[in-house]
Amino acid sequence: MSDPVAVTPELLRRTPLPRPSEEGDKEERGRVLVVAGSVQVPGGALLAGIGALRAGAGKLQIATCASVAPHLGLAVPEALVAGLPETAEGGISPDAATALIERARRCDAVLIGPGMMDRPAVAALAGALLRGLDGPPDGPSLLLDAGALAALEQAGAAPPHRAGRMVVTPHSGEMASLLGMERADVSADPPGVALRAARQLGAVVALKGSCTHIATPEGARWAYDRGRVGLATSGSGDTLAGIVAGLLARGAPPEVAAIWAVYLHGEAGNRLARRHGPLGYLARELLAEVPAILAELC
Ligand code: AMP
Ligand code: MG
Repeated sequence: MSDPVAVTPELLRRTPLPRPSEEGDKEERGRVLVVAGSVQVPGGALLAGIGALRAGAGKLQIATCASVAPHLGLAVPEALVAGLPETAEGGISPDAATALIERARRCDAVLIGPGMMDRPAVAALAGALLRGLDGPPDGPSLLLDAGALAALEQAGAAPPHRAGRMVVTPHSGEMASLLGMERADVSADPPGVALRAARQLGAVVALKGSCTHIATPEGARWAYDRGRVGLATSGSGDTLAGIVAGLLARGAPPEVAAIWAVYLHGEAGNRLARRHGPLGYLARELLAEVPAILAELC
């Protein structure tokens, strides 16, 4: 197999994002729905939601647990926040699926997973969303992250639901569970495993790590290895997922959204590391870096 293509500024300039018109309104840059958070980790929804806006998405909705929603609404005043019924374990109840699918159909990109702690409930809700969004060719792009990836484990090798419009962002542990393999086997061949997962799921895969490998079902592959260890911090993956969702909402194809987001996230970390030191910056601080990096590349 040939080497994956390196994700560099030059590559991104040759793979541009959709350019919004100066006369456009916020609808033009897309609606994002972030389904995220739990009683234990409400901030996952904040990090992902703000990530989507920092990537330039026009409108943000956050769907989260009812008890968390008013607090999140004050913490993210830019968002419409929907409170959904919750489980005894502090997650969003799968009973919310029908209402969620209706809401998702009116959006351009849907992210599910960050900060969702009740694992069986997340898997059931994400599975219902996958099935509910299957069908209309003009439906939203879908990004599954963190706990929501469990929905795909249950689907096993089932045919892809969202062919051409799905992205998944597992780290190596999540990838091992997804494919039913050992973490050591993922680490032994990350580019090969990313490609296998992309083909099996019919989705663009970003397998995260010190080097992040991106693959499409058609066999295209990229790698980004310029990120540094400070990125390995609580909430970091939630911010990346939000950035991907924001770019999807702006109309970027899934593989374009994935490679741009991985670069923006890694470069944001590099800039923070230069100012503050290599460790100890916060995931939330990554997000304010994103617009300037975008502006330099667009
Ligand atoms: P998560 O595990 O979901 O919070 O995501 C962690 C993020 O940090 C991903 O974007 C990884 O690619 C990135 N990351 C983790 N470890 C490293 C590392 N040693 N060097 C650079 N980036 C890393
Ligand atoms: Mg994560």
